[in-house]
Amino acid sequence: MALRELATFAVSSGESKGRIYKEVQPDYRSEFQRDRDRIIHCSAFRRLEYKTQVFVNHEGDMFRTRLTHSIEVAQIGRTIARALNVNEDLTEAICLAHDLGHTPFGHAGQDALNNCMKNFGGFEHNLQSLRIVDVLEERYPNFPGLNLTYETREGILKHCSKNNALDLGELGERFIKNYKPSLEAQIANIADEIAYNNHDVDDGLRANLLDINSLNQSELFEENFKEVVKKWKSLSKRQIRHEVVRRMINQIVCDLIENSKRLIQDYNLKDVNAVRESKQSLIKMSKISEKKHNDLKRILRKELYEHKQVKRMTLQAKKTIQTLFDTYMKNPEFLTNKLHEKIKTNIKSKYEKKNARIVADYIAGMTDRFALSEYKRIGNER
Ligand code: MG
Repeated sequence: MALRELATFAVSSGESKGRIYKEVQPDYRSEFQRDRDRIIHCSAFRRLEYKTQVFVNHEGDMFRTRLTHSIEVAQIGRTIARALNVNEDLTEAICLAHDLGHTPFGHAGQDALNNCMKNFGGFEHNLQSLRIVDVLEERYPNFPGLNLTYETREGILKHCSKNNALDLGELGERFIKNYKPSLEAQIANIADEIAYNNHDVDDGLRANLLDINSLNQSELFEENFKEVVKKWKSLSKRQIRHEVVRRMINQIVCDLIENSKRLIQDYNLKDVNAVRESKQSLIKMSKISEKKHNDLKRILRKELYEHKQVKRMTLQAKKTIQTLFDTYMKNPEFLTNKLHEKIKTNIKSKYEKKNARIVADYIAGMTDRFALSEYKRIGNER
């Protein structure tokens, strides 16, 4: 089979803006395959297995973790990228890396850590993902981090405040000038939303935190649910759930591909710079599907994320993160020896911000279960 030619508006490996530290080209892989492989081999990626999306990791073995979520995002992202003739390897690399910077305990953990860091520059998981691949991973003799290409890093940095963008050079420019990232990055972003909306339906039903009646308020769910139970009369609950979720993903992804194709055509894009300068997202669902998708999101927020059982986990998560942070700041001897050596306490005001960042990096890197065991250890030893 002949090699598939990428569209002119795709990012091509040969035209990458490159890596911070120059390296020899890989023999058998494209630059973005190399990025993806570096991400898969890094420690932060492996730790995603024990990090929560919505459900705390030890609540049950069948729920999504950030690792399985990231793999699902990559699957959806690759499908869209291939259908639009853009760079599948780059899309996959961004998808797999998009959640590397998440704290333990999902969004509750991120909010808690951001609150702890409010006087020290805050904490933002997107920026933390970039920090992991740029600085924190220690895997290569000649450079810190993973030394990924500009395009993968651009995709990882989904959001960024203008203030933080000022410190990021070329990578931060688009947040100041209001440019868009590559189509590959836009795909990864929306693949993330599609993946979590749908697997939260699946996990929520499985956990009995959601029921069919509340989900039937969503048109997207209801129409697919009706079709499935009409077509098959004697399916188990589990089969119905899986078939409905499968159909919802397929419906949204197909709509997204068709609509994006139209938009791309309308814009008559010549190259990736035209994508960046287009100032609006070109990877978009049709208005009707977008509404259905957002309605489902709203129902999930109300019924699942605000469920008292989920909220109880959220409160515990906040308490755990806050206690860990306060304890490490006051008693750095509770940190690992290596980190303890880095903490400088002689001129407190001068080093406090740096110390807080060391502590935040440490906490952010923890898995749910490690954070809980540290919390217990600290309680016992204090
Ligand atoms: Mg995600």
